[in-house]
Amino acid sequence: MSSPSLDVLAIAAHRDDVEQTCGGTLLKMAELGRRTGILDLTRGEMGTRGNAEDRQREAEAAAKILRASWREALDIPDGRVENTWENRLKVARVIRRTRPRVVILPYWKGRHPDHYTASKLGYEACFLAGLAKLDIDRALSSQQSAFSQVASAVASVVAGEQQKPDSASFMPHRPFKIIYATLYYDVRPTFVVDITDQFEARFESLMAYKSQFSDQEAGKDIFPARAEIRARIEAMARFYGMMAGVTYAEPFLQKEVGLVEDVTAIAVKSI
Ligand SMILES: [Zn+2]
Repeated sequence: MSSPSLDVLAIAAHRDDVEQTCGGTLLKMAELGRRTGILDLTRGEMGTRGNAEDRQREAEAAAKILRASWREALDIPDGRVENTWENRLKVARVIRRTRPRVVILPYWKGRHPDHYTASKLGYEACFLAGLAKLDIDRALSSQQSAFSQVASAVASVVAGEQQKPDSASFMPHRPFKIIYATLYYDVRPTFVVDITDQFEARFESLMAYKSQFSDQEAGKDIFPARAEIRARIEAMARFYGMMAGVTYAEPFLQKEVGLVEDVTAIAVKSI
């Protein structure tokens, strides 16, 4: 079934990235009545603790806390997010299906290769999704081997799914706006979103990843670990909040200039 259109789609390399970088913003948008979604490129199978199934359950619980309308994970290998033609097609297919007006991508520089690669991959997928003559399903199936096509057909039959084309993936769509969540990198944001009212829920959405954030070491109480994580998350949110004169905020960067209608209504005090 094709999904109804989203207002905002956040794309990130790993389950729990969105919770750490732009979860408060997604929740705020949902509270304003917007339809939000999350696309995780990988499934977390390389994590030291827990497995991909644990992380799926946790991601679903986190999405519920953030009131996301939609969340899926692609099957790109964890720790090996590569900007390949096939991966760009997979992401472009999701963009056509979910038809977001705004896409949130990770910032294009960072320590973790999956993060900065996801940024470029996401941008190029947004571009491809708008190409009217690109038949994504055909391009994808010619990329995949005969063996994997047979395997996925068998899996679909086992799951009782019908083999029908997804018509939405034929309709071109390009998001109106792409913004970059910069929290993982030390760069000055071009704007921040006030998440003072969403901060506690955003923290709880991160804590939904129990396999990652509890039992840090056997025999240790979970509370010191949780307190330390909270202190770090809070310090970052306060830092970006202070830049704009609010308590907590999340940082973003846009490549375009801002457009102003009324200079007396520009937010954030200068002096
Ligand atoms: Zn990550």
